Amino acid sequence: MGELPDKRTAFIEWYLEVIEAAQLTDKRYPVKGMNVWTPYGFRARRCLDAVLIREIEATGSDAVEFPALIPSTEFAKEAEHIQGFNAQVYWVTKGGLAELDIPLVLRPTSETAMYPIFSLWVRSHRDLPLNVYQIVNTFRYETKTTRPFMRVREIHFFEEHTCQANEDDATARVASNLGAFAKMAGAFDLPYIPVRRPEWDKFAGAFYSIALDIPVGEGRTLQIGSIHHYRENFSRPYGIQYEASDGSSHFAHQTTFGLSERLLGAIVAVHGDAKGVVFPSAIAPHQIVIVPIPAAVGTADPIAMAQGIATRLRQGGRRVHVDTSDARPGAKYYFWELRGAPLRLEIGRREAEQGTVSATDRLGRKSTFPLEHVEAEVDRRLADYDRALTEQATERFRASFAYADTLAELAGSTQIRVVRWCGGEPCGRKIEGAIDGSVLGTPEGPLPLEPRAPGPCIACASIESGVWALASRPL
Ligand SMILES: [Zn+2]
Repeated sequence: MGELPDKRTAFIEWYLEVIEAAQLTDKRYPVKGMNVWTPYGFRARRCLDAVLIREIEATGSDAVEFPALIPSTEFAKEAEHIQGFNAQVYWVTKGGLAELDIPLVLRPTSETAMYPIFSLWVRSHRDLPLNVYQIVNTFRYETKTTRPFMRVREIHFFEEHTCQANEDDATARVASNLGAFAKMAGAFDLPYIPVRRPEWDKFAGAFYSIALDIPVGEGRTLQIGSIHHYRENFSRPYGIQYEASDGSSHFAHQTTFGLSERLLGAIVAVHGDAKGVVFPSAIAPHQIVIVPIPAAVGTADPIAMAQGIATRLRQGGRRVHVDTSDARPGAKYYFWELRGAPLRLEIGRREAEQGTVSATDRLGRKSTFPLEHVEAEVDRRLADYDRALTEQATERFRASFAYADTLAELAGSTQIRVVRWCGGEPCGRKIEGAIDGSVLGTPEGPLPLEPRAPGPCIACASIESGVWALASRPL
């Protein structure tokens, strides 16, 4: 393989080439937008899911799994939701040779699969809160250009659905989800910004939607997840009702939290470089790759030493791979850099004779240490590597944002523009026209910029109830 395209000037070309060269996916499957998870890609996906499971379960959520097929009668119960998804669903209309009496929808998301059952589970205030999640495949007939991990038709989907007693409890669940995502993103060394979407861009059926956005260069952003507050918008049509301790009857307030393999695409996009993928240690399929360099002379045995080190490191739960293929050492280094292994240990004749280990991390930093303390030395280097990765990503993240005071400044912007906005849709549409992109919405929490005093709307100059809004060109 030759050199990769320039990530900065040809991001999409770079991205598509790097994920295939690193063998994270095989896009030759004969259905558009449905890709094959390769062994290496699947390992990364399992590590990623493990982080999601750990953090969501720490907030009191239980795993469930609902069927993939939804009767059209249930799917049609919430009007806005069906309108939002109608053009994207796959239908199952036949069972064998017979037409089905009630056509079935292949789940695009699971509200309409879960909520008829939630109405049976939630009867009393003692049944609340109900916090459950599932990690399943969902299907959407995507009409835009599909790209592995970023926009696909078969989505590897994490979805939490909850029922709460009232609006405040549901708002608190949204905050809890934001806290859980902060920990997930921390494990992926991934800076992001939570943004409340404008009314015209919220999830179909939601009271409000908070998206989790990341900059991917040149003023573009990628939405890597979302959290929604539904109020009673679904509990009413689905009859999710409970009896309070005083005997009165109430509809539950609901929330959802969705993530997908887009996170994997984001990790590649944010950390990757001219040599290939750069995995944070939390999701690297192999955190440590050991390359033994067979000795032509002497009694030292680098392969045996490499296997011994691997055994020791695996005992601490570390993911270790020993590359004993017959490729040349230089080719192995190149291969594992392309695939993003955080730490490479090289064991040659000198190391075997002296009882030392030579290490190179994926950021190119080299060191040598005694074999005796290999566990502690490796852990220290991985922690230091993750810190450096976070710092590097945070620096680029901060540089991706800039204020704009006039609509004229938005044209051809290569940064995400932070503008003052009255909150009105006509002005929002003017801003979108000026940047040739989207108003992402209003940031939830501090901006990655020096604070500024509020001022007039960039589009209408109104000074009433202004908010900061982010405008960008979504990827
Ligand atoms: Zn305005």
